[in-house]
Amino acid sequence: MKDILTFFFILIVSNLFSQRIHGYNTTPHDTTFVNIEEYSSDFVLDMRYATTNNFMNTKVYDCEKCYLRYKTVKALLNANQEFLKLGYKIKLFDCYRPTDVQKIMFDIVPNPTYVADPKKGSIHNRGCAVDLTLIDRNGNELDMGTTFDFFGVEAAHAYQNLSKEVLENRILLKTVLQNNGFNPIKSEWWHYNLKQDTLDNLSNFKWNCD
Ligand SMILES: [Zn+2]
Repeated sequence: MKDILTFFFILIVSNLFSQRIHGYNTTPHDTTFVNIEEYSSDFVLDMRYATTNNFMNTKVYDCEKCYLRYKTVKALLNANQEFLKLGYKIKLFDCYRPTDVQKIMFDIVPNPTYVADPKKGSIHNRGCAVDLTLIDRNGNELDMGTTFDFFGVEAAHAYQNLSKEVLENRILLKTVLQNNGFNPIKSEWWHYNLKQDTLDNLSNFKWNCD
């Protein structure tokens, strides 16, 4: 009897150990940084800062990845489910941004109107902000009136001198994201912050490009 109990004890322990090694049954903590592509293939990534196609004309990320706090990913997954039902999906332009990269960006464009001062940091540095738009079934971006990172009044939510279609597209993006845990900011139609009671720390976590 004792041998049988020992046998089952070893079996249970080794099973738990194996699950841990293979990552099963391990839900990340809400504040853990995770790669969104490991949770869904229904997002399109167009990480502009991993290319020279951005307002700095400079590549500041080593590779194209979208890392965020797990709670931000969960909220985005829920929002994208709603968009998918309507025939759209989320295209991501920027996600978590390490503070070292924030410093590089501020060195290139030292203007806090366009780039947050690294001393203060941005919600992107906290893993709780995303820059995004919507694409249709053919992969075409919905017309939002301006491009991503257009620095002018036309990018603001309050700006109304736009076509009915553009205004409706912005409202669709805003409504679904607000219903799924995000807050817009006034000046940029593409930027959303996760609603949260307390701010997460600025981080300099770096993702692996291999
Ligand atoms: Zn942003």
